[in-house]
Amino acid sequence: MGRLAWGCLVMGFVMFLTVPGALAWSKEGHELTCRIAQSLLEAEAEEAVKKLLPDYVEGDLSALCVWPDRIRILYKYRWTSPLHYINTPDNECSFDYSRDCHNANGVKDMCVAGAIKNFTSQLQDYRQGTGDSRLNMTEALLFLSHFVGDIHQPLHVGFTSDEGGNTIALRWFRRKSNLHHVWDKEIIVDALKDYYEKDLELLLEDLQRNYTDGIWSDDVPSWSHCEDLSNCVDGWAKESIQVACRWAYKGVEAGMTLSDEYFNTRMPWVMKRIAQGGIRLAMILNQVFGASQEGFVAAA
Ligand SMILES: [Zn+2]
Repeated sequence: MGRLAWGCLVMGFVMFLTVPGALAWSKEGHELTCRIAQSLLEAEAEEAVKKLLPDYVEGDLSALCVWPDRIRILYKYRWTSPLHYINTPDNECSFDYSRDCHNANGVKDMCVAGAIKNFTSQLQDYRQGTGDSRLNMTEALLFLSHFVGDIHQPLHVGFTSDEGGNTIALRWFRRKSNLHHVWDKEIIVDALKDYYEKDLELLLEDLQRNYTDGIWSDDVPSWSHCEDLSNCVDGWAKESIQVACRWAYKGVEAGMTLSDEYFNTRMPWVMKRIAQGGIRLAMILNQVFGASQEGFVAAA
């Protein structure tokens, strides 16, 4: 995986830059995923995570989950840009790690699935005391937390020619938008506005109810079951491209207007993917940092 080669580039720490038109789950999506994850951490993992976070966030992982989007435009971090997504062959609705996980120059492992495996490995080595001290583990934690969110956004595992829906220009109700952005942000923001008084806390509580004793509670064990992380991550990418085909791209053409019907039928998928991301991020962090020390079979 050459993780040291590119891991070494992950040094230093730059905060609070803003990026226009970032291409990822919106700030809200990442915040929800990370808050769900942090709420499910076992004591040991919670402590390890807090130790890696800078003091000023006061132990709140979600405050920095959008950080990888903020720094990707900087020269130093430009190499991380392909780590936010996967381009798959048009209309195939499939993901194959060896075929699809590379950057534009064909460098292997440079995609969101490769990044999750790589940063999990770095954190595991650090936990076991065999890590490379040149690597910055705070950054590894933030990248991992962000990318587990991204891989669950269905259009982050999208078709190559439309850049995961980014080039499909359309209207979202009256606003100009594009298909990718509808899934990154529009649906979440409109759900907040229409159903949760614009209060992220209320939306979070609703998601938590759904997976604790609501519509998803029977599914949670299967969502979070994972013995071989590499297979699990590939499976999450496959889920995404399948949801992208069946729900995101379905019936959509450039230039059209998406409104109530699309919103009502797709919003449950957006919410489910956010919850799955949070539950699976907690699963990784609990396995890496938890008391059981079980760890994964070869994470990379
Ligand atoms: Zn991203």
